[in-house]
Amino acid sequence: MNEKYSEKSAVITGGSSGIGFATARLLVDAGARVVITGRSRTALVAATERLGSNALAVRSDVASLSDLDALAAYVRNELGTVDALFVNAGITSAMPFASTTEEMYDESFAINVKGAFFTVQKLAPLLSTGAGVVLTTSAANVMGMPETSVYAAGKAALRSMARSFSSELLPRGIRVNAISPGPVDTGILENTMSKEAADQFKAERVAENPMRRFGTPEEVARAMAFLAFDATYTTGTEFVVDGGVTQL
Ligand code: NAD
Repeated sequence: MNEKYSEKSAVITGGSSGIGFATARLLVDAGARVVITGRSRTALVAATERLGSNALAVRSDVASLSDLDALAAYVRNELGTVDALFVNAGITSAMPFASTTEEMYDESFAINVKGAFFTVQKLAPLLSTGAGVVLTTSAANVMGMPETSVYAAGKAALRSMARSFSSELLPRGIRVNAISPGPVDTGILENTMSKEAADQFKAERVAENPMRRFGTPEEVARAMAFLAFDATYTTGTEFVVDGGVTQL
């Protein structure tokens, strides 16, 4: 436990697992008050039990504007203002574009793109001067990996929004950046693929990665916290945490 982020407040969408949970853990351990969101009440309760009393949980679907309005009202009551907003909730979808259905396309964009856009819109009024917003993109948005067309395009849209939001929020002293994780072993793949397909996908990602491994949620969390709080002369950028796979 340290006090690096005491007096700080943060909201993390999709904060009950994976990268979002690791970010919540890092911030709570450093003294911040954190609101995490997600769709599963059970997962949220389990997460807050692990995080302790400085973590609050709200069941909120980022694809629902009324849920986001309710989240903003809750955050206003509980935190007042927000120093860091982590737009992290997301789903993967792996499918050849030829067999992608309209439903799959709409679900991916509703959560990963529309959800992110309106999360920022609804919570922006609560952001403090000097606050940091971090949008979670993906290495996929600059790669042409098969079966990722819908997911990668949505993440590319987020990368673009980081630039536009940056210029609109700069007059309030708010910075907006994106973080682009490479492969991170969080279970997200298993949520949308069979175990066999996930194992094969993971083996391919390790083989192509210059560091020959997956990243950890904690490695991404450290970069998230840096962008939100410490990178005070940085806005509109995309910070890559991917073992070098998109750079070397
Ligand atoms: P994860 O599945 O553990 O986390 C995603 C979280 O988002 C979950 O808690 C989930 O419940 C939540 N979520 C999903 N849909 C939601 C909705 N409609 N409303 C609210 N919450 C919702 O996986 P993760 O790997 O930690 O993913 C976090 C982010 O990182 C995602 O945006 C993902 O696209 C991105 N990312 C992950 C990887 C990776 O390899 N794990 C790589 C690049 C980018």
